[in-house]
Amino acid sequence: MSRIIAPGAAIGVLGSGQLGRMFAIAARRMGYRVHTFSPDHDTPTGQVADVEIHASYDDLDEVRAFASKVRVVTFEFENVPAATAEAAASQCEVRPRGEVLHITQNRLREKRFLRKNGFPCTVFDEISTLEELVSATGDGKLPAILKTAGFGYDGKGQRLIRTPGEAEAAWRELGGQPCVLEQLVDFEREVSVVAARGAGGAFAHYGVVDNAHRNHILDVTVAPASVSEKLAREAVEIARAILEALDVVGVLCVEFFVTRDGRLLVNELAPRPHNSGHFTFDACVTSQFEQQLRAVCGLALGSTELLRPAAMANLLGDLWSNGEPDWAAACAFPDVKLHLYGKLEARNGRKMGHLTALAATAQEAETMARAARESLGPKP
Ligand code: AMP
Repeated sequence: MSRIIAPGAAIGVLGSGQLGRMFAIAARRMGYRVHTFSPDHDTPTGQVADVEIHASYDDLDEVRAFASKVRVVTFEFENVPAATAEAAASQCEVRPRGEVLHITQNRLREKRFLRKNGFPCTVFDEISTLEELVSATGDGKLPAILKTAGFGYDGKGQRLIRTPGEAEAAWRELGGQPCVLEQLVDFEREVSVVAARGAGGAFAHYGVVDNAHRNHILDVTVAPASVSEKLAREAVEIARAILEALDVVGVLCVEFFVTRDGRLLVNELAPRPHNSGHFTFDACVTSQFEQQLRAVCGLALGSTELLRPAAMANLLGDLWSNGEPDWAAACAFPDVKLHLYGKLEARNGRKMGHLTALAATAQEAETMARAARESLGPKP
């Protein structure tokens, strides 16, 4: 049994966005102190943390100084260089371990890991030259999506290729860097499982949720998903096996496509709390953020019981294009919770906050979350 990091201790978070903010809120509620590290100032996490350090992830002296003042370092952002995680690990425990980040921050490494371990994932080719792309986009392989191996999220670094003639432009637009070429999946739905693994190997999960995307960005999550029990069991078992295989201590989200013939394909792994788990903050006994805290501190995992069906609707910066949204209107829905992340500038596509609606059924919760978002003002 690993040592416990008890309330009162300082926890370090690499990254300073909304995931760190909600983690910090959960941690401070339980009496922990939170230090956050990122290159930015006045950040969503920094606004609620005890200590906000702004320095480059490449400044390893700063990273070591940061890590020397906390008992454990965790992440809210996986695109942290491997050397940063190693520097932190020279001073204190790092959870999840740097190797988990190393694999999941790069689509090629992630897909190789999935394939090697027999997890079902989309058919893909590894592409490192234009010639490889041209031969991989030959007969019968299109449509497909070209994705950069590194630094991709929310549809960034992706180009759809429908005809062989589009391959060269897609390659150049993505900067001619190592990529994966994935067959376009004609999915029936997208679902995810947010799960946690404790320091002693205990496993907990929040079940399967339905995710709807707009412009490649998560738009609405509905919990629980309307999928068969069999499919839900399969998805949870895949998630469990992935957390075990990666030896994760912390929270990890597995995003899946469900194909029209009912198969699950892993699309992506995120080794941290995930946007599709935000509903847990208001709708579960233990939120995904408290669960991450419990896991990295060596505490027992909390109950993941869903108190009421729930739906989460993201609030993107686009909502601000006609001025400040009408917050009072959304707050007039008594079963809707408003979360704003304290970001200083609203840009199109930027995640600024979310709404969570709680209701008697998942469908009612979804209708309510969408209506509350509509009430914020006219669509841009
Ligand atoms: P990703 O950043 O890879 O999670 O992609 C963001 C979104 O783009 C996914 O949630 C899907 O809606 C869509 N997408 C990504 N890859 C594929 C694919 N191979 N087939 C169909 N849709 C995809």
